[in-house]
Amino acid sequence: MKFTELPTPCYVVDEALLEKNLRILRGVMDRTGCKIVLAQKAFSMYKMYPLIGEYLTGTTASGLYEARLGYEEMGKENHVFAPAYRDDEIDEIISICDHIIFNSFSQIERFKDKVMKAGKKMGLRINPECSTQIGHAIYNPCSPGSRFGVTIEHFRPDLLEGISGLHFHTLCQQNSDDLEKTLNAVEEKFGPWLSQMEWINFGGGHHITREDYDIPRLESCIKRMQEKYGLSVYLEPGEAVALNAGYLVTTVLDNHINGIDIAILDTSASCHMPDVLEMPYRPPLFGSGEAGEKPYTYRLGGQTCLAGDVIGDYSFDEPLKPGDRLVFGDMAIYSMVKNTTFNGMPLPAIALQDKDGECQIVQQFGYQDFKMRLS
Ligand SMILES: *Cc1c(COP(=O)(O)O)cnc(C)c1O
Repeated sequence: MKFTELPTPCYVVDEALLEKNLRILRGVMDRTGCKIVLAQKAFSMYKMYPLIGEYLTGTTASGLYEARLGYEEMGKENHVFAPAYRDDEIDEIISICDHIIFNSFSQIERFKDKVMKAGKKMGLRINPECSTQIGHAIYNPCSPGSRFGVTIEHFRPDLLEGISGLHFHTLCQQNSDDLEKTLNAVEEKFGPWLSQMEWINFGGGHHITREDYDIPRLESCIKRMQEKYGLSVYLEPGEAVALNAGYLVTTVLDNHINGIDIAILDTSASCHMPDVLEMPYRPPLFGSGEAGEKPYTYRLGGQTCLAGDVIGDYSFDEPLKPGDRLVFGDMAIYSMVKNTTFNGMPLPAIALQDKDGECQIVQQFGYQDFKMRLS
């Protein structure tokens, strides 16, 4: 079907844009020999995993379910990190993952024998205590009191036996200058143990496919670790894989006035684009301007009862009317993986737009998807 015929609300992933990102990531792999895995947390549209697997090394997961999804749907190198693993899931995790990354020495002591016996790679997440982001405390794994990674104060060189690599993840939507700073902190604190490792994992948060991202600097960071310590380097971006590669299509249901013109949409910031409220950020909207920039300004709101279920104020060339379709951009990442049926909101369908512009609905949801999770 055509884009204009899709039901709303609907997430649409654009295959050509996804592949454009994958080619950029593949370029980094080819020029440096590093390995890049998809962090499924940001984007788990497994319909696209065969395509992603043509370019990238594999998948990484935040726990058993994502690990299973990567194993079943991509079937390439499979990594996992969790702040702590459960006794009743560790065997399955070990059986389907190649790299199992632990957050503490106590978890390593607890599960080491099982990992070694299975011949899998065991990694340790370190915390270099180097905050490079300002403002976003909830996205900063180096914030004071963070539960992520072992700090140098609690590092136990006597317990490194069997650990083949170190992992850090400290960035969020950042450029390679911040990676460089972080690597300096990693070397300063953990440098003495790097040569005895096989690999290092730079985590995610690298906005590699963003227009202004400094790729040569990233590549020099990778080469520095390869040449100085003989390490294999892994990156596990989520956002960068599907950045700007998808849309959320919605329909205007009604107009309302209360000091400002308001349009009610058949979507919800709270349910369908929660990062708009949590991050927070203003999603791009095709054909719109900032408030006041074009003649008709509207506050765009969702269908839920939450007073703050507002996407933002946008302006248009023509007045909005019921039945108009609006297309939000950059809606592939942290959208369908985080949505909810709060307030009984229907979940958006998931569609794929192929390289010829032809659209296909790959998943649709209904009342049962709401009811099934309650009792
Ligand atoms: C969130 C996360 C990622 C991916 O981060 P992006 O910002 O989506 O690139 C990678 N690794 C770990 C451990 C994470 O928690």
